[in-house]
Amino acid sequence: MAQSTPSQQLLEKIVSLAKRRGFVFQSSEIYGGLNGCWDYGPLGVEMLRNLKEAWWRAMTKRGDIEGLDASILMHPRVWEASGHVQNFSDPMVDCRECKSRYRVDHLFAEMSEKKLKGIINTLYSALEAWEKGTISSLQEDDPFSLLPDYEVNPYFVSIVVIKNALDGGLKIDDDLRDQLAANFFIAQPDLFTRVVESGLIACPNCGRTKTLTAPRNFNLMFETYIGPVKDAANAIYLRPETAQGIFVNFLNVMQSSRQKVPFGICQIGKSFRNEINTKNFLFRTREFEQMEMQFFCKAGSDDSYFEQWRETRWNWWRSLGMPENKLRFRPHEKLAHYAKAAGDIEFEFPFGFGEIEGIHNRTDFDLTRHQEFSGKSLQVHDEETKEKYTPYVVETAAGASRGFMAFLCNGYEEETVNGEQRVVLRLHPFLAPVKVAVLPLVNKDGMPELAQKLEHDLRQSMKSFYDDSGAVGRRYRRMDEIGTPFAVTIDSDTLQDHTVTIRERDSMQQVRVAMGQVKQYLSERILM
Ligand code: ATP
Repeated sequence: MAQSTPSQQLLEKIVSLAKRRGFVFQSSEIYGGLNGCWDYGPLGVEMLRNLKEAWWRAMTKRGDIEGLDASILMHPRVWEASGHVQNFSDPMVDCRECKSRYRVDHLFAEMSEKKLKGIINTLYSALEAWEKGTISSLQEDDPFSLLPDYEVNPYFVSIVVIKNALDGGLKIDDDLRDQLAANFFIAQPDLFTRVVESGLIACPNCGRTKTLTAPRNFNLMFETYIGPVKDAANAIYLRPETAQGIFVNFLNVMQSSRQKVPFGICQIGKSFRNEINTKNFLFRTREFEQMEMQFFCKAGSDDSYFEQWRETRWNWWRSLGMPENKLRFRPHEKLAHYAKAAGDIEFEFPFGFGEIEGIHNRTDFDLTRHQEFSGKSLQVHDEETKEKYTPYVVETAAGASRGFMAFLCNGYEEETVNGEQRVVLRLHPFLAPVKVAVLPLVNKDGMPELAQKLEHDLRQSMKSFYDDSGAVGRRYRRMDEIGTPFAVTIDSDTLQDHTVTIRERDSMQQVRVAMGQVKQYLSERILM
């Protein structure tokens, strides 16, 4: 069996901790699990709620952003207007033998350099042969025998450019892989088929060659039926993003809350995508939660709002403890059809950098489309010019579940303290599922009673945990592992002077605090 890499091992440890301590379980585990779906256990649900709460507060405390909770099922025309019915698809190929399914770009993203070079060289040789007029000598079943069809095909110009660049020492990077997938194979499914038929691309799962089908588009929306009759007229979708609920409610929210453009609407909610490749734990799942905000502004101010939101959102992730060196902002080179500018905040997961939030200037695309499809005006009145206009939108779209995973990965650390190993989850206190553990040093002399009373009092205002089993060192370790930022210990001095020790998770330093001051001491350090 192949050895797992250190980054895979790290991810495995995080997944195992998540399960063992009740952060995340596989969905329907006793039935063998459901791919791409996860359940949040007692600690996970607390942490996820804390993350969403941090986001919600950051958005709504500004005064120029209103909240919304739109339904998951929406009128099917919404998804026609948004372009999801037509465009929300990925080109996929299937293996006829083992039935595995792949996104074409992923196939190329994970292919070895040697294989990729082999494909480029073969395409190049075929082109050369054709140019020299030797094509006629190729056999009927030769995969490239149809090359003359591509006489004026600009993609072949790029094959020459890429081949020459590779010969000149160009490295095969992610962009080049994307380019190959998009330009050669997604744009030309029959060319992909010919390369497959020539045996150059094997199925990554079963290793067989000549078994992959031609790419075809696969819509990522889950479809279901509304009402008792299961026919096409009753088909509706589980929303693949929360944003459209905001667009269709734009006027409702503006009028009822008496906001004026510029203002924003924010929403947290479940989204569903029938993702093909769901690996990497919570990173890409079929059911997930998003935290999206659409900021409505006047055309002309959109560029500046885009920059402002980019910075605001970056600072938010930083404020919850994400270190600068594990984050990066990646501007999109290829923009979606609706976007004027876009970029992603990415976090360095154990498997590499991946998007945790997208920031997009969506122009007036969405509101304009909903006006066209619904026949209802979504324009606003400009008090200065006395004219009506359709606002532009700057969107911030973060993943709550993906962000949750990023914080787990960022927090997880193994270290040696006084010759002993400890696993510590360095979560921001606001995110930590349990804020404080209360521990009697020993189970006698009235210490358990005092500790239970203190824990009961604290529980009214923060998530706390009483633990009296095992040596106190082990109890600290159990709390470190789930990210509990503080542990309060009741010892023999407490009985005399009513003070306790408070141990801080990361520094492991202890301070002595009067029992009556514990709640305030902790609250000041937990609240954002
Ligand atoms: P990706 O390129 O990773 O598929 P996307 O660009 O399609 O993501 P958006 O539509 O911009 O993502 O969604 C906003 C956020 O929602 C993403 O930054 C991510 O955090 C989260 N998200 C999107 N798809 C998923 C998914 N399948 N599982 C978990 N989170 C997701």
